[in-house]
This record gives sequence, C-alpha cells and structure tokens, in this order.
Amino acid sequence: MLDFPEYYSGIRPFKQLFRKGLPILTYHKIGPRPRGARLKGLYLSERTFRNHLKELKNNGFCFASPEDARLVRVPNDRVVITFDDAYENVFRYALDALKEEKGKAVLFVIAGMIGQTNTWDAALGEAEERLMDEVQIREWLQEGQLIGSHTLSHSHLSRLSPEEVKNEVYRSKALLEDKFGVPVNHFCYPYGDLSPAVVECVREAGYQTACTVERGVNFAGTDPWMLKRWTARYPSRKLKNYWLRFRWLLRDIFQG
Ligand SMILES: [Zn+2]
Repeated sequence: MLDFPEYYSGIRPFKQLFRKGLPILTYHKIGPRPRGARLKGLYLSERTFRNHLKELKNNGFCFASPEDARLVRVPNDRVVITFDDAYENVFRYALDALKEEKGKAVLFVIAGMIGQTNTWDAALGEAEERLMDEVQIREWLQEGQLIGSHTLSHSHLSRLSPEEVKNEVYRSKALLEDKFGVPVNHFCYPYGDLSPAVVECVREAGYQTACTVERGVNFAGTDPWMLKRWTARYPSRKLKNYWLRFRWLLRDIFQG
C-alpha cells in the first residue's frame, strides 16, 4: 500500500481510492496570489482549478452534494467540491470554470462575516482577503451552486461554552436561510476543530452533513457529521512528495 500525498494536486494517486467511496475536495482561494501570502499553496490559479474539474470529468467523475455520503450505497463515480470561508476570489475566479465545466460546489459561508475580511487569519500574519458579499453569494446561488454554514465568527468551537456553540451553529443556519431563502443543510467546522458535544449540536440543529479536515474518502458507514476531505493545493516542493509522485508515476506505467 503506497502512502497517499498529504494534499490533492491531481487525480493520479487517487484514481483507485476515489472509486471506493465519496471523495470531498477542499479549496480555499482561487486566482492571483497577493504579496505577503503565507500559505501560498492554498492559492490555485483559475487555470489549475479548471484543469482539476476537467481531469475529474475525464476520469468519469461527476459533481455531487455532500448529501450523497448519506446514501445507503455511496456511488463510486462522484466527487464533492467544497470552498471554505467564501473568499471573494472564488466568486471572481472559480464561478466561471464551475459554470463552463458544469461543476457543482458547496461554499461554506461565515454567516456573521459576509462582505468582511479574513480577520481570524490576521493574527497568523496571513494576507488580507475579502469575503463574498450578499450580492455575490446570491449570484453564486443563482448559478445553481450550494452554500453551507461555517459558523458565525470562524471560532474554535471546542473552546466555546455550550451556549456559545449553540449560537454559532444554530444562528448561522437561521441567518443564512433567512437572508438567502435556501435550506442550509451542510456545515463545516472551522479549523476542523470539534468535540463530541460540538458534533451533537450540529446534528441537533438539523444539518444533514458536516465536514472536517480529516483526510480520507467517505463510505456508507462514515458518520455524515464527520465527513473526511482532501485539501487541494499546489504540489509541495518537499523531496518526499517528489518521491511519492515518482512512485505513483511508475505504478501507472507498469499497471496501466
Ligand atoms: Zn475556514
């Protein structure tokens, strides 16, 4: 059994794994990288994103909703695209590609920060980025795309009191549903930070699914409120990753 790369930067190493269940990919920022960006690999160019969609389609995958993880028999020809934080650059640089490639994606919106910036990242010295405003999210929905909740304030939920967790989880759902007039069935834990009580709260609030940052694909037995994902980013320049890609290439050549 070969190790899988830590991040998703193309289908090759994942071809067989993705056929075994429902894979969910996590994207953050699409488009040009601003000066001072710290996690540079989380910016994918418009072209790279478009190529990811094309490559998935060429390999027989269609784009699904996280709800498919709840099916008794999870289909093996689907992939879910998710965008965390609802950056404005996703609206600018990913929506056209999604339209043209008939892609479907879930945008995890921080309900209390619509139209603001990624202030939770500022403490880490990350470059400032605008978040989509109400008009942009409305257009996103009009194009047939989905939204989900990423809390009210992008907090570490496991560090909050039960009342505060409830507020983040319930109120973000109600706020998004009122504002945009669509059901909000999907949730995403900021930083992948959770506890059993947090997961229980998300389930009780009526969400159908919730995404973590744990790596893996989802099977019929996977807890729908603990869905695994794979983060997409530029291939790492670490030697280990070169070696891994080289081994996958050899395997492809010899096994067809
Ligand atoms: Zn986030």
